[in-house]
Amino acid sequence: MQRVRQLFPILLIAAIGGVASAEDVPLPRPRPAPDFVPFAESARPFFDPAELTTELSDCRKRLNEIAVVEPLPRLIGPGECGGSDMVRLRAVSLPDKSSIALMPPPDLRCRTAEGVAAWVRDEMAPKFSAIGPPLRSIENYDSYDCRGRNRVVGAQMSEHGKGNALDVRKFRLANGKTVDPTDVNVPKDFRVSMREAACSRFTTVLGPGSDGYHESHIHLDLAERRGGYRLCQWNVREPPPPPGPEVALTDVPLPQPRPQIPEQSADGGKKH
Ligand SMILES: [Zn+2]
Repeated sequence: MQRVRQLFPILLIAAIGGVASAEDVPLPRPRPAPDFVPFAESARPFFDPAELTTELSDCRKRLNEIAVVEPLPRLIGPGECGGSDMVRLRAVSLPDKSSIALMPPPDLRCRTAEGVAAWVRDEMAPKFSAIGPPLRSIENYDSYDCRGRNRVVGAQMSEHGKGNALDVRKFRLANGKTVDPTDVNVPKDFRVSMREAACSRFTTVLGPGSDGYHESHIHLDLAERRGGYRLCQWNVREPPPPPGPEVALTDVPLPQPRPQIPEQSADGGKKH
């Protein structure tokens, strides 16, 4: 028994880290969230084909009905980054059997991929079809990315680091034209309806006017906050005035003070 006691620390160390020296005992790590697993960065790649699972989650079964996806192994570290049940979302299938590609295909948690697919299928595709050429693809600016919010080193981990966020740059239509949701020249009503659709489906929506980091793309995520709190920060800006007849400076009225747009929430300075 005494010998077992003496050996125990060494056995424990070996079990944790595969090392046998007491000097190498690591400090305890903060406990990971339940769906993260302990990691050893140098020991394994992010995408280990051996971790592909043949067992489909309920989410994957639902997602397969409305999207074309490629399963990914569980993403592991570094740090708190990673997630389980990850997929590469290649395309969203529409009821008429056509599909809308995501370019490049984003890597997302299944639940987030499902949210994106439903948003494209039920909101964005019908919106574009109602006014002109159908939607054909969506330009993905960023998806899974292990980093701090807004790429600030040391900042709280971005939802991108959990495979829980997608940045959308442009929508490409069947006639080859692209629609940038942040472009003030896109009809304002249409941009307002895009914002409404996004904010009704995602718990975080950041666009122009949110924090200076989202002037040329829209950030969408499914962050879970206490009390079900949501962030919808996308200032749909006015288009530039049409060129009119020249007026004398004396005719120009003084600008009215601009009312505050109450989009900023109590969660205020949080960045993504
Ligand atoms: Zn983002």
